This record gives sequence, structure tokens and C-alpha cells, in this order.
Amino acid sequence: MRINVLGVGFDNLTMDEAVDRGMELLRTPGSHRVVTPNPEIVEVCRENLAARQAVNGADLVLADGIGVVKGARMLGTPLKGRVPGIEFAAGLMGRMAAEGLSLYLLGAKPGVAEAAGVKLAEKYPGLRIAGTHDGYFQEDGPVIAAIRESGADCVFVCLGAPKQELWMAKCGGATGARLLCGLGGSLDIFAGVVERAPRFWSDHGLEWFYRLCREPSRAGRMLKLPLFLVHVQREKRRR
Ligand code: UDP
Repeated sequence: MRINVLGVGFDNLTMDEAVDRGMELLRTPGSHRVVTPNPEIVEVCRENLAARQAVNGADLVLADGIGVVKGARMLGTPLKGRVPGIEFAAGLMGRMAAEGLSLYLLGAKPGVAEAAGVKLAEKYPGLRIAGTHDGYFQEDGPVIAAIRESGADCVFVCLGAPKQELWMAKCGGATGARLLCGLGGSLDIFAGVVERAPRFWSDHGLEWFYRLCREPSRAGRMLKLPLFLVHVQREKRRR
């Protein structure tokens, strides 16, 4: 059963369990989706029904941020821990490489997915990069066709939220890929365009603060974080 945090149902899994489930989905016929909501996305889902349906309709809903873990604990329904999307992606690529599976990278500014592909192919020998495409396209058709023709087993969809969740729900099945994972800004990190917070910050639940210092333009978006905690408090009292 999923753990409900302000209307978003999270799978209660450790990182290893999440990667195992991802691999299971990759082997199961049909098209499957993984989403990795953080508090900001939960807040978007509270206001946007289509986004909420796309997120809750995914086969795997992973708690990306420490805020979600704190929120679940405050509500009396703790999660086993956080499962950052980028670390889930790394675990999955390691396992995919061992099985010689193929990955398509969709999203980010022109050139970024390609650069990420080169780095990931080096880092995970055996992983096949089926193709790449930037995230600033106007029509879905040619992108879907390119993924389908590539024969990719898995697609990392990095268009930002809730665009990526909506895109996967609408177009995922048509790509022919078994698994689509919505991973926000991960391609920027894999390509080395953006740096991930050093371990100290993430270990102390302060990755958000590190990002805020590096990218002050995110301040508006980050106001959703305290708002999320206010809503969790309110929900706690209501329950
Ligand atoms: N992006 C995209 N197409 C768009 C809007 C955004 O490909 O129409 C990309 C953007 O270039 C960035 C990613 O989506 O690589 C979103 O990154 P952000 O840091 O906002 O995501 P987060 O990790 O915070 O969810």
C-alpha cells in the first residue's frame, strides 16, 4: 500500500528495493513509468489534477526529497527513507549495463543529453545509449518516433515537473519502451553542466539549501518547501 503525503501516494521502498522493482518493470511486457516527486512536485499536484493523476498513475512513485520523508514521518506514516531520483537512475544504469540493455536520454538544453550519453557510456560499460534528444521540442510525434525507432528499453525523461510526468503519461506507451523515468535535472548533472550538492549537504538534508545558494533564481520555486510543511502540519491536525 502506498503512503499518502498530501494526495500523492509514495511507494515505501529502500533504494535497493526501488532498483529491483525498476528492473522487474523493465522485464515486464508493456509500458511502465517511474516518478520521483519532491515537496515542490507534491505542491504542484495539490493544485493540478492532471499532474496528480499522472504522478499517482505511475508504477513506481519514489520519495525524491528529504522533505517528503519528513512529511510522511510528521503524518505518522513514515517511509523507509528517501530515494533520490538521480541515485535510483545510477542504480538502474548499473544493472542495465550488466544486462546490456539500452537507454534513451530525453530532455535538457540542446547538446546536454548527448554529452550525458557520452559520459554515461564511459561510466557504465555495457550500457547502450540508444539515442538522445533535447527537451525543447514543439511536437511529440517526431520524438516518439525517434525513441520507437531506437528500440530503447528505457527512457530517462528530464523535462522538469510536471511536464515530464504529463509527457510520460500521454506519450510513454507509444514510445515502445518498457520503462520511462521522470528525472528532472538529472541530465544536467550527468553531463556535468550542473554540480550535485556535496555529500555533506545531502546527508544533512540540506541539498535544497545548497541548490538555492548556487542558483538563487530558484528562490521562488523553493517557497513551495515551507508551504509544503505548513500543509503537512494542517493535514496532521485534520487527521
Ligand atoms: N527542461 C526541458 N524542457 C523544458 C523545460 C525544462 O528539457 O521545456 C529541462 C531543463 O533544461 C532541465 C530540466 O528540464 O534540464 C529541469 O530541471 P530542474 O532543475 O527544474 O528539475 P528538478 O531536478 O529540480 O526537478
